[in-house]
Amino acid sequence: MTIINDSSCSWINDLSPRININSIRRDEDCDWLVIGAGYTGLSAARKLGQLYPKQKISLVDAQLAGEGASARNSGYLVDTTLNDGFTSNKELDNYKKKTDIYKLGIETVKRFIKEYQVDCDWNECGKYFASSKNEDRKILENFSDTLSKLGFEHNLLFNEELKTRLGTNFYNIALHTKGGILLHPGKLVRAMIDTLPKNINLYENSLLLNWKKAKDTVICKFKNGLIKTKKIIFATNGFLKSLGIKSNYNFPITLTASMTRSLSDEEFISLGEPKEWGVLPVRPMGATIRMTKDRRILIRNTAEVYNPYQMSKSELTKRSLKQKIGIKKRFPELPDDIIQSSWSGIVSRTRNSSQIFEKIDDNIFVAGCYNGSGIGVGTLFGEQIAIKASNENSKEIETIEARNKPTWLPPDPFLGLGVKTRLIYERIRARSDI
Ligand SMILES: Cc1cc2nc3c(=O)[nH]c(=O)nc-3n(C[C@H](O)[C@H](O)[C@H](O)COP(=O)(O)OP(=O)(O)OC[C@H]3O[C@@H](n4cnc5c(N)ncnc54)[C@H](O)[C@@H]3O)c2cc1C
Repeated sequence: MTIINDSSCSWINDLSPRININSIRRDEDCDWLVIGAGYTGLSAARKLGQLYPKQKISLVDAQLAGEGASARNSGYLVDTTLNDGFTSNKELDNYKKKTDIYKLGIETVKRFIKEYQVDCDWNECGKYFASSKNEDRKILENFSDTLSKLGFEHNLLFNEELKTRLGTNFYNIALHTKGGILLHPGKLVRAMIDTLPKNINLYENSLLLNWKKAKDTVICKFKNGLIKTKKIIFATNGFLKSLGIKSNYNFPITLTASMTRSLSDEEFISLGEPKEWGVLPVRPMGATIRMTKDRRILIRNTAEVYNPYQMSKSELTKRSLKQKIGIKKRFPELPDDIIQSSWSGIVSRTRNSSQIFEKIDDNIFVAGCYNGSGIGVGTLFGEQIAIKASNENSKEIETIEARNKPTWLPPDPFLGLGVKTRLIYERIRARSDI
């Protein structure tokens, strides 16, 4: 497996290049090793650094820290989801457990940005679950019932009002939730890197090739050295399976997204100068589409089982074309060549869309699998898995552990076939809103 840095994502290109990048060059011992430097691993390392200022803590990533899914996502810090994976929210009790976790996720990110004065284009503007199809009204009304029972402020909106707010007459119905934040995912994860405690050794461009447990230590092999550690936290999310971790409970999915350049004054006026907004689809495979603070349009409308991890340029171009069509459907007045960048990213799913948060063996811990809610939940799970690995407890851990646990998945090729079929089916169901 290889994971390489690429320069295809606008969120990453907005940031200044980093300097002083260290890689693993020799054998080492440490007290704590965290593998994966996205939101989860960075939060875990930060917490460990605070808890153990005198211990040796290493954080390793196969590519530049934060430049995996954590900087490549759509930037919705969610309080509620309508479709988390493919599961709709049928049981109130389970849905409440899920939103309790989202709430803690938002609080954790909020605390972080407040403590470190982070500018990540934070906007508490809520989000829309929108559809072009009037038939989806029933789904949104049911969802509205659920939200009312749990006390989430929201309202249903229709054609004209939506056109004014979003600058497109594509959507016929939407449910707007007041909670939920839009942000710049790259700026957030960069701040997590910049504020790592001094006692964390960050190693980048260092792929973990394999690992094994030997008595009281875990031995991790990298291209240019071994690390022996007393305790380890795996925070590799979409790559857990490739490391043989919880293989029958999670699988990777590749998403692609595109971002336009900033709209010109004239283009922006032609849309009615809408304020920043974010739309999530009513049906699972519909498009996520967002108008950013600086008038760029982001669209994500593919999700697939894709091997290898790195998508080739020609394959990415095909996805980018789908994204161009998605933008043109909604904004026919915009020019054809407006997309500035397209990229792919890997997320992790479980069968029942529940997250992984556990001790898998003595001194070995794992947190991951957040589907489309990793900004908040990943940041929360990172902190809390560090606390759990320290044999401590917290109210947050109690809330996390009250969730439904991930359910067993069949092995490949049955799994791959099943997922592919389901994705095709969902794509057909959502075809008008892709
Ligand atoms: C296009 C897209 C849109 C999304 N939209 C949203 C959204 O709007 N809101 C939301 O909350 N979530 C969204 N997500 C999901 C979100 O990005 C993830 O849930 C989140 O980034 C998970 O964080 P993480 O730290 O667990 O994993 P990652 O950010 O995936 O970090 C894992 C790291 O592990 C490293 N790694 C993997 N294998 C190895 C190895 N063998 N050795 C060393 N390092 C390794 C990787 O290089 C990577 O940097 C989206 C994702 C994508 C791709």
